[in-house]
Amino acid sequence: MDWRESGACLQEDPDLFFPTGATASLSREIEIAKSVCRRCSVQQACLEWALGAGQLSGIWGGTTEDERRAWSRRRQESVGVRERRTA
Ligand code: SF4
Repeated sequence: MDWRESGACLQEDPDLFFPTGATASLSREIEIAKSVCRRCSVQQACLEWALGAGQLSGIWGGTTEDERRAWSRRRQESVGVRERRTA
């Protein structure tokens, strides 16, 4: 069975995972979506998919777009450091 079929978000309004409010309500919407992800049995698989696919918008695997972008940047930097060490 595909991990998508087990996501806790299947029981929620999909718009919850694509928050668009103003700053104060945006933070609240993001936290609500993340709380669903925290109780999701496939959170890790979802996050790995989002990172691998370069999913830019929405909450995936309990992370925001900015958090995934920062994580990818750190990963690329760490790979670069390793490559320079072995060169
Ligand atoms: S981690 Fe979040 S976005 Fe991913 S499947 Fe689970 S509830 Fe849905």
